[in-house]
Amino acid sequence: MREKTIQLIVIVGVLALLILTSVQFFWAQNIVELEDKQFNHKVKIALSNAGYKLRLIQHSSISTIHPVKQVSENQFIVEIQDIINPIAIDSILQQEFQDLELELPYNIAIYDCFTDSVVHSLGGSKQQKTVAAEEFGVNWNLDSYNFGVIFPTENRYRQDLNIWAITILVILMMAVLLGYVIYLLVQQKKLDDIKNDFINNMTHELKTPISTISLSADVLCNEENYNHPERISRYAHIIREENARLKSQVEKVLQAAFLEHEKINLAFSSVDLKEIIEKAAKPFALKLENLSGSIEITGPAAVIQGDPQHLTHLFSNLIDNAIKYAIDAPEIKISIQEQERYVTVAVCDNGIGISADNQKNIFKKFYRVPTGNIHNVKGFGIGLNYVKLIAEEHKGTVEVSDNLEKGTCFTLNFPKESHK
Ligand code: ADP
Repeated sequence: MREKTIQLIVIVGVLALLILTSVQFFWAQNIVELEDKQFNHKVKIALSNAGYKLRLIQHSSISTIHPVKQVSENQFIVEIQDIINPIAIDSILQQEFQDLELELPYNIAIYDCFTDSVVHSLGGSKQQKTVAAEEFGVNWNLDSYNFGVIFPTENRYRQDLNIWAITILVILMMAVLLGYVIYLLVQQKKLDDIKNDFINNMTHELKTPISTISLSADVLCNEENYNHPERISRYAHIIREENARLKSQVEKVLQAAFLEHEKINLAFSSVDLKEIIEKAAKPFALKLENLSGSIEITGPAAVIQGDPQHLTHLFSNLIDNAIKYAIDAPEIKISIQEQERYVTVAVCDNGIGISADNQKNIFKKFYRVPTGNIHNVKGFGIGLNYVKLIAEEHKGTVEVSDNLEKGTCFTLNFPKESHK
């Protein structure tokens, strides 16, 4: 996928999320406002009915209907200016609120209409005990009282909070989903880039030995050179070396293709790990000699159930790395130890070592330790991934650690034959 396409998807996704968020907020606000209006309307009807009924009880006829005033968002007053019996108003209000399905708790307040002060308030509701009017210490027989209700704020807005909580949750879920999709796209893009790099590098790496072999073969074919055996020998050696290089590159391509398969079919048989390691080390003998390096394989023969071909490749990858990432003359020490249930193989070198941070990543496919722009050592970052995969296919493990003296140690554990 091209970078531009990803950018477009991100922009469209973010825009869609923003539009959705605004629409969602708009609707949520509308619902909240509508609910508020409906609530206020019901309260006013209930209070107006209550005032009407109270006056009916007291006067048996009514000349004026008194308005209900909303003093604040959660406080309402009926300016009845009349005798108010707290018990009567409480029970009337209970009934009215029940009829209109107003279920919020409320307090009733009775005001002196001359001083506008609350002369009495009661937690109007079912839990209120019946109390005689005289107990309030107020002369309720005067016709100078108003009454009202107050809804405690925390209850009044609980429903609104639910609407907002759902709105925010939905938006958050969408944002997380969008973030995840973008993350997957970016990961996919990175993988595509790495794969393309791999193919480009590999094509280049294959072309070089092919053209060197071709040129050397031309020299050998030239009859003029038949009388120069030293020249013929030199070019024959070049062909052999370049051919070995070509072989190793082709193996790398096969490894990479192999890592793409979900299921790997290994051909298990009884194998001696020491023999395998010696076989893997053999092709590196000449190279090590040229570099004045050495390889030392110690420990007993150890038989496990394994695929000889893949195990040889596994150790050849580790030895190849130990040489590639050496500082001076590579000194490679491979030790085999038989534990109770496992055979442990440690491959240690005296090379450049791997920092703790990078040690966490080196087994990932295509991961190479960053070296800025200097890539003096060629590679594709698939060798250690292959090592890990093959070790795991053998129900074994591989770990990396610092070599105590200098360099790196790779420690592999394979279950012993009897424990497979
Ligand atoms: P590459 O083809 O790059 O060698 P590998 O998967 O074999 O890929 O190794 C991954 C990275 O781990 C290498 O790029 C290198 O930086 C680091 N590495 C592997 N083996 C060694 C080692 N023996 N010493 C130091 N660094 C190593």
